[in-house]
Amino acid sequence: MTTYSHSRLSTFEQCKYKYKLQYIDKAKVDTPTTIEAFMGDLVHRTLEKLYNDLKFQKLNELNELLNFFNQTWEKEYTDVILIAKSQYTAENYREMGIKYITDYYNQYHPFNQLTILGLETQDRLTLPDGNQYHVRIDKLACKDTTYYVCDYKTNSRMKDQEEADEDRQLAMYSIWVKDKFKDAKKVILLWHMLAFNKEAVSERTEELLKKLQEETFELIKEVEACKEFPTNVTKLCDYCVFKSMCPSFKHESELEEKQPKEFKEDEGVQFVDKYTKLQEEKKQIETELEQLKELMVQFAAQKGLDVIYGSNKKASVKAYDKVIYPENKEEFITLLKGRGLYEEFSMVCYAKLNSAILKENIDKEIIEKTTKDKDFRISISKRNETEE
Ligand code: SF4
Repeated sequence: MTTYSHSRLSTFEQCKYKYKLQYIDKAKVDTPTTIEAFMGDLVHRTLEKLYNDLKFQKLNELNELLNFFNQTWEKEYTDVILIAKSQYTAENYREMGIKYITDYYNQYHPFNQLTILGLETQDRLTLPDGNQYHVRIDKLACKDTTYYVCDYKTNSRMKDQEEADEDRQLAMYSIWVKDKFKDAKKVILLWHMLAFNKEAVSERTEELLKKLQEETFELIKEVEACKEFPTNVTKLCDYCVFKSMCPSFKHESELEEKQPKEFKEDEGVQFVDKYTKLQEEKKQIETELEQLKELMVQFAAQKGLDVIYGSNKKASVKAYDKVIYPENKEEFITLLKGRGLYEEFSMVCYAKLNSAILKENIDKEIIEKTTKDKDFRISISKRNETEE
């Protein structure tokens, strides 16, 4: 039995290789976290302190909270924390954290709008398959029989309504709330979008929650059946703490350690440089061949020839009839089908068939007639771009 969490499932959806490193291999990293996660965690802890102290009738002044935030920052910040946006410094992020706490404090002071039931809850929701789902709610609160599952978000992008209504994390937690608190007539999902000093709110019907639970269950089945863990290079890789271990970036990390001379001598650099050069030459040669072909056709026509002689070889220049099909392909295919000719002249679409066989989305007998093997494709792209 495994305990799944929102971040575990999101990691699987984002990149299966990262999932393997983080949750299966439990790989150790030199970069402990990103600056966004570090700042976000400290903001969470500061707001947790605010509400924890309130339980003891202690209302912190804003500067007490900011002192806590700043002192903890000083104590815990290290230079190995990953700052992906190199145009900004750690100090910029610290200032952002201060602003988020200040805005929140001024907006909700004296913090008596709701009754706080739990902070950073640590509980488990048992799923129908026996697996567990980790429930960690930043702030669980209520007003009469309306419950609020609140999450602090330090993202610099505002959550729109569609995203809020599709979010899995808080909706899964609301299933737990309904199960745990029998008087809960309504469960509101509430995100404090701290960068905007705004709230994003969503509510789910029983039907939507059931659907969500089924989808989560299906995703967990996919995770458990997963045998291959390929990388998935996206913009999010800039924030991945496993980058130096990742097959898509390991070579780049090794190169960063090298001096210019060693860099040029690296076997991999030489392979890619030569491959790129040859590809460019091939493209150039193909263009020149096309131009030359046209000149040879003109030459043959002017001289009344159908063979042109070179030093050791000769070139035959023969006209042939070619068919130009109508632009509207679908209409033409319908015509062929209508005349009962389609089967005779159509071909198997191997790209589609390959995909169906690999995904086992086709008759078993067809799959059993085939075998699988590995092949390689080399795609060239700029170093800071995803593959073409
Ligand atoms: S760097 Fe990107 S591709 Fe590599 S493990 Fe991390 S998320 Fe996956």
